[in-house]
Amino acid sequence: MKQITIAIDGPASSGKSTVAKIVADKLGYTYLDTGAMYRSVTYLALQHALPEEDIEELVKLIDQYPISFSLAEDGSQLVFLGEQNVTDAIRQNDVTANVSWVAALPQVREKLVKEQQRIAKTGAIIMDGRDIGTVVLPNAELKIFLNASVEERAERRYKENQAKGIEADLERLKQAIADRDYKDSHRKVSPLKAADDAITFDTTGVSIDGVVAFILEKATEIIDKQ
Ligand code: C5P
Repeated sequence: MKQITIAIDGPASSGKSTVAKIVADKLGYTYLDTGAMYRSVTYLALQHALPEEDIEELVKLIDQYPISFSLAEDGSQLVFLGEQNVTDAIRQNDVTANVSWVAALPQVREKLVKEQQRIAKTGAIIMDGRDIGTVVLPNAELKIFLNASVEERAERRYKENQAKGIEADLERLKQAIADRDYKDSHRKVSPLKAADDAITFDTTGVSIDGVVAFILEKATEIIDKQ
């Protein structure tokens, strides 16, 4: 069966990683969470108390502590920075609050995009992020742009955070999500936007199963045609 590459982009908490993981599982594809990579670099910057101006030092640290992924026994994805398991640390509020400035640094993007493209060379991959359809995989056979209202996205993140034991306040989450969307969409390098050939899907009020079914249908159409 022909293997394709699938790009899923969209704003914060639009359900990208949840559905991408399930679709990857159903198709037997590799899933790459590029947000986890930007979060890992942010964690590095915070751990070393590096300000924006210290970009050279940050780039050196990225080489020193390579980001890698592995699977936990329960099938969930683990993220490592060098030898350190940072799976939970990169979801904490301090990382989330700082990730947009780190992700706006061109030198950081250049390094991570190269790595993402290297990983994608094997094909049969589904990657989610902000610039996958526009920059990382411009030739992806299927590009999906997921969106949802800020209210719904904040509520989803609120429930997720509560389940993970991360402190959450709904109103503050709404504000934080709107701020992150603004910064991610207005940065100079690779801003968040739908590729011209992406299918935009508003998931407000749509179940996870509904979004997964939609993406699988589109993917199967393309795979069958090859
Ligand atoms: O997907 P997630 O919300 O974990 O992404 C965290 C942050 O990483 C985003 O807000 C954005 O600043 C950055 N990011 C990016 N490009 C990507 C993936 C994530 O700039 N491809």
